[in-house]
Amino acid sequence: MSPPQYKCQKCPGYCCSYPLIPLDKRDVERLARHHKLSFAEAKQAFTKEEHGRKYAMRRKKDPVFGKICRFFDIKKRCCTIYAARPAVCRSFPGGGRCGYYDFLSFERRAQEDEKFVALTNHDA
Ligand code: SF4
Ligand code: SF4
Repeated sequence: MSPPQYKCQKCPGYCCSYPLIPLDKRDVERLARHHKLSFAEAKQAFTKEEHGRKYAMRRKKDPVFGKICRFFDIKKRCCTIYAARPAVCRSFPGGGRCGYYDFLSFERRAQEDEKFVALTNHDA
């Protein structure tokens, strides 16, 4: 398998800014264990029922995207619970490429600015 063609360390975290980050019961259990909380406490602290999902990740304000996952470090632009992250985060972006990273790289080349943050139309 070829190595990934994207570098999360160079990305502002598009995939963590989705309006819906859906969790399942096992994800909430993992978060509870990680934080030494009961299931009920973790469910209350980290999730809410929305977008038709029983456990949607809570989000917080973010200067770049408006809102982002509550576990995202908005200064360092990375996940703070990498080992305990939900299944949906583990499986993203799937293959060897990330569409967001391709988009970012293209825009950075076009702007001739390695730090340029290209924005999408994500709602906040
Ligand atoms: S959008 Fe792609 S490159 Fe950016 S953090 Fe997510 S997986 Fe990594
Ligand atoms: S748990 Fe981590 S990887 Fe998943 S959306 Fe939140 S900050 Fe991103």
